[in-house]
Amino acid sequence: MQFEISDHPAPRSAEQIQKVLADPGFGVNFTDHTAVIDWTDQDGWHNARVEPYGPITLDPAAAVLHYSQEVFEGMKAYLHSDGSIYTFRPHANAARMNKSARRMALPELDEHDFVASLEQLVTADKAWVPGGEGEALYLRPFMFATEAFLGVRAAKEVSYRVIASPAGNYFGGELKPVRIWVSRDYVRAAPGGTGEAKTGGNYAGSLVAQQQAAEKGCQQVLFLDPLHENAVEELGGMNVFLVTNDGRLLTPELTGTILEGITRSSVIQLAKDRGLTVEERRITLDEWDQGVRNGQITEAFACGTAAVITPIGELVDGEHSIASTGTGEVTQALREELLGIQTGTVEDRHGWLHRL
Ligand code: PMP
Repeated sequence: MQFEISDHPAPRSAEQIQKVLADPGFGVNFTDHTAVIDWTDQDGWHNARVEPYGPITLDPAAAVLHYSQEVFEGMKAYLHSDGSIYTFRPHANAARMNKSARRMALPELDEHDFVASLEQLVTADKAWVPGGEGEALYLRPFMFATEAFLGVRAAKEVSYRVIASPAGNYFGGELKPVRIWVSRDYVRAAPGGTGEAKTGGNYAGSLVAQQQAAEKGCQQVLFLDPLHENAVEELGGMNVFLVTNDGRLLTPELTGTILEGITRSSVIQLAKDRGLTVEERRITLDEWDQGVRNGQITEAFACGTAAVITPIGELVDGEHSIASTGTGEVTQALREELLGIQTGTVEDRHGWLHRL
């Protein structure tokens, strides 16, 4: 697909960009451009373009505003020391977006067009890729129903876009173990639902749980499986791993209710490369807590594109603090290796990098 490029109004100056990059924050600043592709049931995907970033006009009856028919992705572009820019496993994000799209009755986008949209946007906005430690250009592809129609059915008009946001460290500063709130009042997903789709409603539904967590001094929420008592699923935006003292890595299995993280699958591969045994299976809070108490579980971490790999310090379950662990060696080593591959200082032996 050919992308039309338009550049009015003019992008910001190098000086203005540098000012933003000096303290990028997370998800608060956006680059000068957006990549767009339109879809209708008549014409399929068409009108691929890169245009100036700015507000979009939507009919107030647009289906996405009423029925949340939308999906999104999250990935990063990394500046390497030779000035080249890479992203990480973009075809996996393309495949996941299409899986989400199928679940939400949205059209699938050809993987090559998905990757081309990232290439086009990052080429237009290459001055926006920050190069500091822990920094990257966060890429947010998303697809939503634009058709003005209040009936409940799959929309016949859809828009796909990519926006980009220079990003610093997700949890800010140094690598500190995060405190996690165990959500007892709210469930994220159930079998047959939308848990394994990356769709806005899953996140809207998690916000009150996240508010509860913040009130208790926690940074993230742990959701449990509603059908199996105390079975661990995932955090609001990250997958979970436990490390044992006999060289095993445990993570909840994919049952359709958790998001299949690309970081999760990369961690599984890197762990196997190190000779660790990876067990994808049901894990309960009781196993986690008892394992920490008897020394079998030595580390716990969360992983996702935004926060990479972050140690979990303590779980807060109501009035109780359970399963506290610190930053362990395995967590640290996996984090360094993964970040090294992404930023070009460790050999990319699995061919995960894609030059933009
Ligand atoms: N679970 C949820 C609910 C998420 O939103 C994310 C972030 N996309 C993840 C897990 C981790 O996925 P990834 O490693 O692909 O970023």
